[in-house]
Amino acid sequence: MIDDSSRFSHIMPNQLITIDGPTGSGKSTVSRLLAQRLHYNYLDTGAMYRAVGLAILRAGVSLHNKREITRICNNLDIKFIHDGDATKIYLDNEDVTKAIREPAIDLIASDVSALDNVRKVMTILQRKIGSQGPLVAEGRDMGTVVFPEAQHKFYINASLEVRVDRRFQERQKRGELISREKVKKDLVKRDSQDMNRHLSPLRPARDAKIIDTTNLSPDQIVEKIIKDIVS
Ligand code: C5P
Repeated sequence: MIDDSSRFSHIMPNQLITIDGPTGSGKSTVSRLLAQRLHYNYLDTGAMYRAVGLAILRAGVSLHNKREITRICNNLDIKFIHDGDATKIYLDNEDVTKAIREPAIDLIASDVSALDNVRKVMTILQRKIGSQGPLVAEGRDMGTVVFPEAQHKFYINASLEVRVDRRFQERQKRGELISREKVKKDLVKRDSQDMNRHLSPLRPARDAKIIDTTNLSPDQIVEKIIKDIVS
């Protein structure tokens, strides 16, 4: 692992880097690698919406029951625990790192993320984490809504077919029996929900640099980002 922290610390003390983009764009891999190289904290905000989705699914609450969803959300204890290079997410003291990656959570996370009160609670939590030191924050609205003041904003994207391939391979690796067609249908549906919702829709911030990752490896994307930051 290349360690660039001392190389860049004088240039970028206590900075915020935001990385937004659609499903399969590569933002999680890239954000994690970038945070490791810079010795920054890493915040996966998708994992937070997934944890909320899991809690609501488990509670058996209808998405129309806004009052109950708000109550659940206000009482949730979501924590990230860093263990070496791995980050675990805890929901009310239970390690839900694996559970939130179940396919059933993909869409419910997107559903709950469109709710006003859910976003309000998550945004407060994300800003609190952002105030605790240099951070690479990834999600859908990091550069537009949660950290509009961030010094460096990136929006990463890739062709639909490449994003579907990445997601399909990820799910096959996990041993799921799923067709590429189904992966594509789910991905298109989720991105459409995320882009067309009323609140904090997925879109690049006006001052974000757009990177097309279709033909780039994660290391190449990280290099591109670092070059941009230090230039
Ligand atoms: O990134 P990931 O696929 O884990 O995110 C799950 C869902 O959480 C997304 O489809 C999106 O609806 C929601 N999300 C969001 N805002 C963020 C991060 C994720 O609405 N900042």
